Amino acid sequence: MTDDRSLDELPDQVFVALGRRGMEGILLKECAYCDGIELSLTDVNTDPPEIAGKGVEEVIADWNVKCDKCNRAFTIRCKVRYHDNEKMDTMVNIIEDTGKDLGWLGSY
Ligand SMILES: [Zn+2]
Repeated sequence: MTDDRSLDELPDQVFVALGRRGMEGILLKECAYCDGIELSLTDVNTDPPEIAGKGVEEVIADWNVKCDKCNRAFTIRCKVRYHDNEKMDTMVNIIEDTGKDLGWLGSY
């Protein structure tokens, strides 16, 4: 299912609100374990696969990647919210290969 999917679809940075200090950008395509920044896409799972296009909907897209440097796998989990088919925001969590959720990384 990776035929037409690419990590290029994800932004380079996600943002964390720092209150009055504004927003801080964090590199998204960075290894969860080492300082590697070359990631390979293994597959993408979207749940649900399609949206109805009405009202508020939430889609979880799991981008399963592997670090080219340390060879470990992890998941970039994007929780995308739509309102009437328009993307509102996306929250990104990082999930380790053990299934452990490293928590909220940022939004875009
Ligand atoms: Zn790595």
